[in-house]
Amino acid sequence: MNQPKVHFRKACRLCGSTSLQRFLHLPEMPFTDDFITPEALGSEFRADIDVFICTSCLSAQTQHDVDVGDYYEDYQYSVGGSSTASRFMRILAENTVARFPASSASRKVLEVGSGDGEQLVAFKNTGCRVLGYEPSSVLCKVAEAKGIPTIQGLFTADSIHQLPDEFKEVDVVMLSYTFDHLPDPRAFTAAARAILNKDHGLLIVEIHNLEKIIERQEYCLFEHEHSIYLTEASVAQLCGLEGLTVIDFDLVPEADRRANSLIFVATPNESQLAAKAVKPSTPDAFNHLDHYSLIGANITSAIQNLDRFVDQMTANGKTLAGYGAGGRGVMTLAAMRSAPKLKYLVDKKPKRPGLVAPKSGVPLVSLDELASNPVDAILVFSFGYIDEIRREVSALGYQPDQFYSLLDVLAGRF
Ligand SMILES: [Zn+2]
Repeated sequence: MNQPKVHFRKACRLCGSTSLQRFLHLPEMPFTDDFITPEALGSEFRADIDVFICTSCLSAQTQHDVDVGDYYEDYQYSVGGSSTASRFMRILAENTVARFPASSASRKVLEVGSGDGEQLVAFKNTGCRVLGYEPSSVLCKVAEAKGIPTIQGLFTADSIHQLPDEFKEVDVVMLSYTFDHLPDPRAFTAAARAILNKDHGLLIVEIHNLEKIIERQEYCLFEHEHSIYLTEASVAQLCGLEGLTVIDFDLVPEADRRANSLIFVATPNESQLAAKAVKPSTPDAFNHLDHYSLIGANITSAIQNLDRFVDQMTANGKTLAGYGAGGRGVMTLAAMRSAPKLKYLVDKKPKRPGLVAPKSGVPLVSLDELASNPVDAILVFSFGYIDEIRREVSALGYQPDQFYSLLDVLAGRF
């Protein structure tokens, strides 16, 4: 990948105010999946991640855009194949159809960032007509092979003019973990509104929930790829600015959602469904600027907890490994002073053996390494799966008390 360019902004992405306060500073952070050879360590992309709060509209956001060029064209990551993910997608599609009436039984669904097409398969199974929009050419082919028509490209406000005639007006515009990557979320929201059916159109969006990020101190979710960090309250505000009303924050029950998810459904203000308007449940603290300074301070101390843990565990020659080489592992390590003390980073499906994590330089290995080159303790980054990991790794001779959850360590419980 060519070195991406970073462009800086000077105004709020949502309201245009120039009064922004920085509340988090993570210096020299890499991309979440930019694993490199040991020789290339130091030449990978790194830039500060600064997160700001707009003092006018209280939305959290970065003020830099990273021009990733063809990065997404080659992007092949996909959640396909997980039964939890398939169940989630089925519930989302079925609840959409069951809860919200449409004028035609065969509603039209456009998904932006449709990946391997799995979510659209779920909509198609309920009788919807579907169209995907996806930048990765490989994923487009995967989706097409499943019978999901997909346009290859990065969706921008102009893209609505290139949609086939049948999809110039749609019943649903859906985005899953794509909306918080948009450099200009308002322009996108306006474009989505323009193609939504005015009587019952739905904008359905799944994003990371800032409230949960803060609650769990998951600073690893502050990534270059993300431009905005929303709460239910800031979602309602953003929708309001573009003439949309939020009518649901609970399309998929919490227990069936993927980690750290906020799902909202919005409809044009003039739609028949706007009467279903719901109120955000964001705690009042998020309406106060002081709250954000506290967040920054808490995250700094959570990172110190991690460093203290690693120092403590590796004192007296003990060895420690990380488990889970997804974005959580990479970004958590990248902000730690003590990361190079980890012997390696295990992943069930490592990208390629012989690589190291960006910035921290921790070697990426497969599961076998835990047997051939054992460690005294394992820090589990993919904490949502810790029970499953404990069970699997016990076959290699590890005891339950050798595992530590990232969440516990961040909170100083070790
Ligand atoms: Zn603002």
